[in-house]
Amino acid sequence: MNVPVMKLSVPFIPDEGYARFLIGHASSLSSIYFPLPSGPVTDARVRIGDGLVPEPRDLCATLSALKAIDKYILMNTRFMPPHVYVNNAMLSGILNEIEQLDNTVGIKGIVISDMYLVRAIDRTGHEIVPRLELIPGINAMLDSPEKFFSFFDLLALSRFKKPTRIVPDRALNRSPEKLAALSKAIKNYDPDLRIELLANEGCIYQCPFKLSHDAHIALSNTGFAGETTFRMNQNLGCQAYFDFQPHTFLKSPFIRPEDVHHYQGVADGIKLCGRTRGVGFLKRCISAYVKGSFNGNLLDLMDTPEILARQWHIDNARLESRFFTTLTSCTKVCKACKICSEIFNKASRKKEITFKPYKEFQ
Ligand code: SF4
Repeated sequence: MNVPVMKLSVPFIPDEGYARFLIGHASSLSSIYFPLPSGPVTDARVRIGDGLVPEPRDLCATLSALKAIDKYILMNTRFMPPHVYVNNAMLSGILNEIEQLDNTVGIKGIVISDMYLVRAIDRTGHEIVPRLELIPGINAMLDSPEKFFSFFDLLALSRFKKPTRIVPDRALNRSPEKLAALSKAIKNYDPDLRIELLANEGCIYQCPFKLSHDAHIALSNTGFAGETTFRMNQNLGCQAYFDFQPHTFLKSPFIRPEDVHHYQGVADGIKLCGRTRGVGFLKRCISAYVKGSFNGNLLDLMDTPEILARQWHIDNARLESRFFTTLTSCTKVCKACKICSEIFNKASRKKEITFKPYKEFQ
């Protein structure tokens, strides 16, 4: 098995087969991350179905085989119901749960995007706080040294341990100069701070829906409103946009497995997402990024545009080196530019629409 040029941080699902797969790829992994079994502090994904929110017993049983890999708990919801921030007993209960997990399988830290939540958890005075790294979530959208230091100045006032890794905003994947400037500032601040790039989200570049989308997910996870984000994205959001002009997907700041090596020197690792897409999807992604190549539909590696993947086949092998150099050096002002549509037309074909049985998404 290849060890990739950059180690991977990947989602964890408490599935025995998946845990065995991760053990088989342990030398390629830097960390795994997952949400807590119970609320009210959630991760940034819609809680839609079985298997996404693990049972505590399943979590410990499957994680115990992965003792050597760093583990992080996702508490990266955009916001919490206001009463949670001032409910010390509730927050302490959550920290007790993390402490129990730490005692059983070892927890390195937590991932949070909501600074109010960072402050509220710190104020509980719970004894586990100084043992936990506080990792800014990708949705903190740190895309410049100024934003990075602003976040870290506040973190430094807390009792949390300094983070050992960060994930800059995904848009920087397509802006090598901005990424290099941020990377240099971060390494000057702390040379050991690991920089990871989110490679397979597949959202619209600098997505104008992003903040509202995160807020709607957080709102539905509070239980105060029903889940509407799938329908909204289909009718009004990214799905509707990609439906109308599918070639714009190429502008999305994903990193193909073949292009990871271009980021050596400015980043230390790759982060993959896609917990809600199930074990089969995650195994496919991890295998591709470990191997550094993928022969198939590029959309089958991407977390977000599932409907797009059912409609289009983008032959990853046909996106040659021109793809990376062009998309990381162009202006992203697309009005008069036909390059993405030319590349898309050359590498893609429309698929027959088929409906898969539910279990095939697992
Ligand atoms: S400017 Fe051209 S190459 Fe760059 S994202 Fe827009 S269409 Fe694609």
